Amino acid sequence: MEISRKNKVVEFFKNYWMYVSVGVTILIIAIVVGVVAGSQNALQTGNTNLEFALPMNNATIIKDYSSTELQENPTLNQWEAHLSIDFTSENSDVFAVLDGTVSSVSYDILNGNVVEITHENGFVSRYCSLAENPDVKEGDKVVAGQKIGSASSTATGEIDLGEHLHFTLYLNDSPVDPNNYLDLQNK
Ligand SMILES: [Zn+2]
Repeated sequence: MEISRKNKVVEFFKNYWMYVSVGVTILIIAIVVGVVAGSQNALQTGNTNLEFALPMNNATIIKDYSSTELQENPTLNQWEAHLSIDFTSENSDVFAVLDGTVSSVSYDILNGNVVEITHENGFVSRYCSLAENPDVKEGDKVVAGQKIGSASSTATGEIDLGEHLHFTLYLNDSPVDPNNYLDLQNK
């Protein structure tokens, strides 16, 4: 009985080995494709499990992110997309939103003093209109919530907004809406 059952199994594989091996091959390909697609997807969308800190405490959004609706910039007298969020707060402290490395500290007349931090998973955060002499320099390692500078009015491109932080979040070199990553409802 046992032997004949074994024989039946052997017989089955003899007759259908090609179908079985094709089936196994398809299964392996499907698993590999699934894993590769999954990891690419994670890279493209970023790991949304990352814990973002807020760039300012008890901040008010004075100009929100908008990619499609143009907003007036009275300083430059033009209508433009605002791919950033402008924050003000009673306390001008500005904090890193994620762990990372300061990739640049710079100044230009439109954006004022700018700190850029490169994070894991393709994220870069950029803090414009900071006061002179930010608390960090290029190459510094920072952690989420660490103070990096103070909001100011050095961005002459938005001088009408007064002292504020112009915050931009990039994912894979493109600006993304910080509302989708930062917990701005509980700021
Ligand atoms: Zn702005």
